[in-house]
Amino acid sequence: LMQLSIPLSFIGFVYREIRQGLTDIEQMFDLLEVEAEVTDAPGAKELSVSAGAIAFRDVHFAYDANRPILKGLSFEVPAGKTVAIVGPSGAGKSTISRLLYRFYDIQQGEILIDGQDIRQVTQKSLRNAIGMVPQDTVLFNDTIAYNLRYGRLDATDRDVEAAAEIAQIGTFIRNLPDGFRTMVGERGLKLSGGEKQRVAIARTILKAPPILILDEATSALDTTTEREIQAALDVVSKNRTTLVIAHRLSTVINADEIIVVKDGTIAERGTHQALLATDGLYASMWNRQREATLAAEHLRQVQESD
Ligand code: ATP
Repeated sequence: LMQLSIPLSFIGFVYREIRQGLTDIEQMFDLLEVEAEVTDAPGAKELSVSAGAIAFRDVHFAYDANRPILKGLSFEVPAGKTVAIVGPSGAGKSTISRLLYRFYDIQQGEILIDGQDIRQVTQKSLRNAIGMVPQDTVLFNDTIAYNLRYGRLDATDRDVEAAAEIAQIGTFIRNLPDGFRTMVGERGLKLSGGEKQRVAIARTILKAPPILILDEATSALDTTTEREIQAALDVVSKNRTTLVIAHRLSTVINADEIIVVKDGTIAERGTHQALLATDGLYASMWNRQREATLAAEHLRQVQESD
């Protein structure tokens, strides 16, 4: 079983990287010679972003026909605002981010950016307008500086260093033996999930797109790392239209609107305070997560005092 599970988990790893490392998706397709599932419409125009408002109108989507994932989802992210998507595991939260990036086409309804259907514009112009901080970032076997500069290839060293600073990873890098020239990736220094996420945030700061998708890591981060990442995210999402796919509820408190997705539709929506007052699904998820966090903290303290 062991022999079998290693290659399987590796396939799983590659698969996850493809599905979630959307920033680098074109490279991945090249690497694996996989056909992309969507193509540009004949005569597709460039997306023209003025304010950067997002609208999902009656969106239906299924990966395979007999298992619908989204069943008529409608919501808006007004220009410059932050909307957070929450819901039980498997509800389709990450799917929503993949659809906005047009990784798949929807079966019914429309997704609009500043009134333009994303199926009618070039994929290149769409993806240029969107900064994606994925759950798990693909790192190249190159220097940390190269990996950061991937956000904008013509960025100067000073820009790269400033972005690292804003993304709260500057101190970490400067303390490495070779600083910004340290090799990372599979054949270099391995970064933790939280560090990789900050690399992705720095890339996004360099790219400076009008629209942001933050697909939060599912894995638990310690409180300090979580706070650092949150501070970095607050900076990048300021005045940008931001869609947060939230797996941990602590990051959504300040969202302009929280959308609770369950069974393919919107179960509840509102601000954090309003949803807590409603005492429904969001409130029960919130309470459960708080208890889990407290229990984890308690366990850590017990282990540390041993
Ligand atoms: P989590 O909080 O656990 O990350 P989620 O709400 O983000 O979950 P999604 O990743 O959007 O959930 O997945 C929604 C459903 O779609 C899941 O049941 C999942 O198994 C299924 N799914 C996701 N990706 C694919 C795919 N490429 N092909 C087929 N089914 C998929």
